[in-house]
Amino acid sequence: MSGEGTRGPVWRAGGCHCGAVRFEAALDEVVEAHDCNCSMCARTGYLHVIVPESRFRLLSGAEALTSYAFNTGVARHLFCKVCGIKSFYRPRSNPDGWSVNARCLDEAEAVDIRVVPFDGRRWEENGAALAHLSKEAS
Ligand SMILES: [Zn+2]
Repeated sequence: MSGEGTRGPVWRAGGCHCGAVRFEAALDEVVEAHDCNCSMCARTGYLHVIVPESRFRLLSGAEALTSYAFNTGVARHLFCKVCGIKSFYRPRSNPDGWSVNARCLDEAEAVDIRVVPFDGRRWEENGAALAHLSKEAS
């Protein structure tokens, strides 16, 4: 949400449980986290913070990641092979960006996370509503 914060985005670190996978995402002061009810997210409690490609960087753990695909195969669900945690992935809604799991941020309390329900079970009706979240700021 541009204009809502008083400063620019801040790089926030996060990662999986065992520490093999570490990432940073540049997040605004206030971020929306989508709580999706699809068959995958409902099982894991994943909270999506979707960012453009330039606002995400993998610090370590590329070799520890394994992926899972289902349905259309567009989304690449990435899990740590050691601890099984999905701390970020390439979402179907935003194949040009990344989805970071708000629950995997080191200091989630430093960010004003506003949880928004997302009806991923009805993907065909709702998926496109997220596409803008991975657009690079011009
Ligand atoms: Zn791990």
